[in-house]
Amino acid sequence: MCGEQLARAGHKVNLFDEHLAWEKPCGGGLTHKAIQCFPFLLDNSYPKKLVNSVELISSEEHRATLDMPHPIVIYSRTVLNGMLLDRARDAGCNVQRSRVMGVDTTTAKPRYCVEGDWQEADFLVLAAGARNQLLPETRALQRDELEMTQGYFVPQTSDSITIKFLPHFEGYIWSFPRCDHLSVGICGSMATHTSNELRSHLHQFASAEKFATENAKFYSHVLPSPQVRTLSDRAVIGKNWAMCGDAAAWVDPLTGEGLFYAMRSGELLGRSIAEGCPELYPSRVRASFSLELEFAARIVRRFYRGSFLGCSVTTRMVQFLQRNAVFRQLLSDLFCGTQDYSSLKQRVLGHLGGTLSQFVTSVLNFEKPTPKLRRAVPAAD
Ligand SMILES: Cc1cc2nc3c(=O)[nH]c(=O)nc-3n(C[C@H](O)[C@H](O)[C@H](O)COP(=O)(O)OP(=O)(O)OC[C@H]3O[C@@H](n4cnc5c(N)ncnc54)[C@H](O)[C@@H]3O)c2cc1C
Repeated sequence: MCGEQLARAGHKVNLFDEHLAWEKPCGGGLTHKAIQCFPFLLDNSYPKKLVNSVELISSEEHRATLDMPHPIVIYSRTVLNGMLLDRARDAGCNVQRSRVMGVDTTTAKPRYCVEGDWQEADFLVLAAGARNQLLPETRALQRDELEMTQGYFVPQTSDSITIKFLPHFEGYIWSFPRCDHLSVGICGSMATHTSNELRSHLHQFASAEKFATENAKFYSHVLPSPQVRTLSDRAVIGKNWAMCGDAAAWVDPLTGEGLFYAMRSGELLGRSIAEGCPELYPSRVRASFSLELEFAARIVRRFYRGSFLGCSVTTRMVQFLQRNAVFRQLLSDLFCGTQDYSSLKQRVLGHLGGTLSQFVTSVLNFEKPTPKLRRAVPAAD
């Protein structure tokens, strides 16, 4: 996305990826928020699956179904990455399959090392994902800023997404249907859960839901799960370099959604560099989405670990979904990204009755919003 913006603006762009279009471990689900921002994600002939229904399962096996007015669009990552690389190439980027071995931003012009050769550039964009090792003037993500994920590409199909919560567990299990298979996986905080724990929960779920994992391809990867401090303090831009996507930890810590934030941050960075003012990038990201991620970072622990009226918050949520159509509407809007976190409270107070209103307020009011969140930010675009 970033390379495409820059090439369209007439810059010479060299884009390196060690795998190019590959099946990166991922659900591959894009919310309506992403489709609204990037309509080409829907209007194209690349294979994808549109899903309008989500089944939520509590840790005690209560079940509720959300019918979404706008579909979640699910891609295989080989297809999605391929489409984005095609767009970058068509815009004029030179796309090369190579591993970048190092970067050096201490010289007047920044340098990068590919296949043993050090090359100079005017600006370095680092979009190497959650495992990014290219860290000029910044630090790596720590364990409590990362989630572990494990999963299978299961040769089965379905027309519905499934989300399963677990007792005392910061994360969830998902099944995302694609055109010809399911991406079934689990994510959990790296600081509080072990990989054995994840694998055991995943196998239990797969066997209960009759997903055949014996011949399925296994995957595992890490996913950024930013804390408030990650979003407010970690440097993602410096002299002649900047990060976007997972490398910058721009993932919703509550849902694990990262594709939209990766694409949007790439677009905003590309535009800022093309205009000759990369320093505008952080404020544009802030105006576009990072306050939402901060909000999610504040409530995530309460959401997965908290209780309401003697039951876990996630169980109560599924129970309320079974009973209340207005709450179902609210959650479907949240799920497809048309309802943001920051204006949720007003909507809840206006439309939900006593207990439900208390429930949502108790989750959202876990900590009082900091002044930062209330401060008006300059509009990005
Ligand atoms: C299991 C799992 C499920 C997920 N499900 C969803 C979902 O359903 N919806 C959603 O919105 N988000 C989901 N996410 C998050 C989403 O995958 C990421 O947020 C998104 O891929 C971030 O994009 P990115 O381009 O920043 O990083 P990546 O997609 O990780 O891309 C980084 C690229 O950099 C390349 N690279 C790395 N190091 C180097 C190097 N040194 N030299 C050259 N190339 C290099 C890699 O080959 C890779 O192609 C999921 C994540 C995981 C792990």
